[in-house]
Amino acid sequence: SRLKPLNLNREIIQIKTLLERTIPKMIRIRLDLDPNVPAILADTAQITQLIMNLVVNAKDAMPEGGRITIATEGVADPSNLPPSLPPGSYVRLTVQDTGTGIPPEVQDKIFEPFFTTKPIGHGTGLGLSMVYGIVQNHGGTIFCDSEPGRGARFRIYFPTVPDRP
Ligand code: ADP
Ligand code: MG
Repeated sequence: SRLKPLNLNREIIQIKTLLERTIPKMIRIRLDLDPNVPAILADTAQITQLIMNLVVNAKDAMPEGGRITIATEGVADPSNLPPSLPPGSYVRLTVQDTGTGIPPEVQDKIFEPFFTTKPIGHGTGLGLSMVYGIVQNHGGTIFCDSEPGRGARFRIYFPTVPDRP
C-alpha cells in the first residue's frame, strides 16, 4: 500500500507555498494548524490533490477575493465529533472560504461526478467527486456546510494512526 504515516501540517505548509505563487493576491490563505496533530495513514499525492481541489473551488467562489482558511485539529473527545462518526481518534481537516457559498438546492449533488454550476469550459464537475474518492481511500468522512452569501466549509475526519501495542 502507498499509505504511510503523514503529518498533515507539513503537507499543508508546502501546499501553501505552492499556492501563493499561483493564486490571485486578493485571496489570502490562513493556516490554523494544531501543533500536536496526530499522524494519519495517507498517500501524500492524493492528500495534495484533495487539498488543491478544495482550494481551487474556494478560489472560484471568491471572484472579488477573500480568505481561505486551512485548519487541522486532533479530535478524540466524542462530544466534539459529529454524531454519525464512531468514537475514536481523528484528525479534522477544514478548508473554509468567504465566497459565494453553496445554494441549499445543490448541496446534495456537489459530490456527484460531472456536477458543476460553472460555465462550460470552466469546470469539469470532477473535483469534488475526486475529493470524495480520496476521502474514502483513507477511511475518512467528509462534511460540507455553507451559508449562502457567506462561504462554504468542508470538514474531513481522518482516523489517526493506531497506537502500537
Ligand atoms: P467544478 O469545480 O469543476 O464545478 P467540483 O466537483 O469541484 O466541480 O464542484 C462541484 C460544484 O460544487 C461547483 O460547480 C460549485 O457549484 C460547488 N462548489 C464546490 N466547492 C464550492 C465552494 N467552496 N463554494 C461554493 N460552491 C462550491
Ligand atoms: Mg472544482
